[in-house]
Amino acid sequence: DVQSHLTGPSVSSQAGVTVWQVALPGPLFRLFSYGIPEGMHPVSGARVRVPFGRGQRVGILWRPTTPEREVSLKYVDALLDTGSLLDAPLLACLEWAASYYHFPLGEVALAAFPPALRKGQVLSQPGMRLTDAGRRALEDGGIRGSRQRELLMALAEQPLGVAESALMHFPRATRQGVVQRGWAEFLTLPLGATFSDDLSAASIQPLSLNTAQASAVSAISADMSRFRVWLLDGVTGSGKTEVYLSLIARVLTAGKQVLVLVPEIALTPQLVSRFALRLGAAPVVLHSALTDAERLQAWLAAQSGRASVVVGTRSAAFQPLANLGLVIVDEEHDASLKQSEGFGFHARDVVIWRARAQEVPVVLGSATPSLESLRNAQMNRYETLFLPERAKGARMPVLNLIDVRGQRMSGGLSPVLIEAIERHLVAGGQALLYLNRRGYAPNLLCHDCGWVAACRHCDAFMTWHRQSRRLKCHHCGEEQSVPETCPVCRSELSPRGLGTEQLEDVLAGLFPDFGIERLDRDALSRKGELARRLARIRAGDARLIVGTQIVVKGHDFPDVSLVGVVDADQGLFANDFRGSERFAQQLTQVAGRAGRADRPGTVLVQTHHPDHPGLNLLLRSGYGAYAAQLLRERAEAGLPPLRFSALIRADGRDAPAPRHLLDTMASGLSTADWVGLSVWGPVEAPLARRAGRFRYQLLLLADDRALLHDALAHLDAWIGSRRPSGVRWSIDVDPLDM
Ligand code: ADP
Ligand code: ZN
Ligand code: ZN
Repeated sequence: DVQSHLTGPSVSSQAGVTVWQVALPGPLFRLFSYGIPEGMHPVSGARVRVPFGRGQRVGILWRPTTPEREVSLKYVDALLDTGSLLDAPLLACLEWAASYYHFPLGEVALAAFPPALRKGQVLSQPGMRLTDAGRRALEDGGIRGSRQRELLMALAEQPLGVAESALMHFPRATRQGVVQRGWAEFLTLPLGATFSDDLSAASIQPLSLNTAQASAVSAISADMSRFRVWLLDGVTGSGKTEVYLSLIARVLTAGKQVLVLVPEIALTPQLVSRFALRLGAAPVVLHSALTDAERLQAWLAAQSGRASVVVGTRSAAFQPLANLGLVIVDEEHDASLKQSEGFGFHARDVVIWRARAQEVPVVLGSATPSLESLRNAQMNRYETLFLPERAKGARMPVLNLIDVRGQRMSGGLSPVLIEAIERHLVAGGQALLYLNRRGYAPNLLCHDCGWVAACRHCDAFMTWHRQSRRLKCHHCGEEQSVPETCPVCRSELSPRGLGTEQLEDVLAGLFPDFGIERLDRDALSRKGELARRLARIRAGDARLIVGTQIVVKGHDFPDVSLVGVVDADQGLFANDFRGSERFAQQLTQVAGRAGRADRPGTVLVQTHHPDHPGLNLLLRSGYGAYAAQLLRERAEAGLPPLRFSALIRADGRDAPAPRHLLDTMASGLSTADWVGLSVWGPVEAPLARRAGRFRYQLLLLADDRALLHDALAHLDAWIGSRRPSGVRWSIDVDPLDM
């Protein structure tokens, strides 16, 4: 805490002492001043170890400041880096992000570092290097000991030096022996210094671009030394990736780096291998499944400028890059680019800020652009480039509704859909069934007394996972074994509703002669499992695919000729205002999996609401027309992106406290001082109780950003000061989940 930081054994400040502000992890919205001992050479963006409270913390030197005479000052214990790890535009971006997202700067700043560096790992290590004498000895063949020769050969492969940690399979005596003979030397190596990507050996030739692709590439590459945001609005299969690759190749020729943000790398193994084949070397990949050591290596390769192409998920938005030349955000509409808990940044918006500061162009790609980006394009802040047709000449799929009212359904499938699946399978195609609900059944209930398996900690039912014989809460992770009979009346329990596991069973019963693969989050629990399933699908060993949202994310299944949307009604009546946008994006994306190659595609959408105007507009006129309609509705209702929003969430173990906190905030903001600000709520969160905590939310809507941020700054003053015990609360700026 602040007090113990300022007292304790410390040195009084004197004239002439250098004092720096340091960003430290923790919940406080401020920087901390520390003295710099003589002989230390401080620089912005280098890490320091400082005394804090009773312990030590790793922080980041931010900027020099003038010492305050009255305050006694503590000194930095150690400077961990000799130079800055963060460039000036990134430091500025972190400061902007902290204030824009109303999150403590110390926490935000640490988001730019991999875990190893946050913990204070130093960036040098003991290593060995071959000497000239050693090289000559190798050439002359005059080395007797075979271990020594092996060691020298290993060193010869990396002239800059090899970390000793990578040489531990050679006995210590061997390592010391070659140094004593003058064939090698010990030295201190910078970590990551040996990375190099060899881009010379592209193994596939670029495709010749079609007219739309070529004009997009030439528009963007006409001036690459200027900030501009391009919205690449291209239908599914229109060859957006080919456009990216073509632009990347140009940037690499100019010797610069490209940052590519994608929603989830684990889900798109195809993208990374396609990049590798086209560009000659694997891009450096940054995502959360890496080990700390792997992550550090990737970070260093990107930070030093040695990695030419860096592909990452949202956290890569803060990756330092020595030599940035272009930013690409693929699937820019995807909600996973926004972090919804804690530091609630949107990776797309962060990289746009950085690109502006660094005079670098940004390409936002999507077949279903977010309303935010469409609005920015309308306002001429972004420039739109259309790819209206599929690249390989394939036609866009035909979409049709199936009215399932009164139909005899078999496991959620209408006779029309079953018949269509059969027809496509017999014709040699693949069929993809989309159902956005994993597990066997979303409920397990007693038909006699009405008991339903519910989560003890949440206002939610437990999903029955039959294969793993568990009941799971998809909100808090609670798991239980499945009761044999009703715990109340001992009757039989039966499933209600349809999940992907059950759909897989139903299809296996109907079409026993065709393999099935299921693509949902449960299928990702083991490493390599997704790749294995995708391979079976690509090879045609599985002709039926059952999938949740994951399948809609960018997979290319050339033989899928039929897509069945099993339950469109699930998305039709969402309880927040972004529901229809999200639904239209998912439907368009999943429909886009059909007919990508030679086989024409059909999409069948099952619904109980065949007259739903939105659904009909979407199917008849496409995503663009539907999105334009949604934008008009948002304007009429005074909602984002026409106005600016923030969501205040509060939760606590007993219901009144969080609600009371938000009530007080709401009344503090609804006075005459806040003209142009609307305060909605507080209301219960959509999931009113999660993991044992009662949840409420307050939505702020403002006519302009400045007003919204004034209001939020007003609330920031609450942090730490008036927080009732046990209540957690947070600010989510530009919220997507509500
Ligand atoms: P998107 O990213 O827009 O969904 P992709 O870049 O994956 O589209 O392209 C879809 C398919 O079309 C891929 O199989 C790709 O190899 C192919 N393709 C893209 N551009 C061309 C082109 N100019 N000529 C031939 N095939 C192309
Ligand atoms: Zn019962
Ligand atoms: Zn739960």
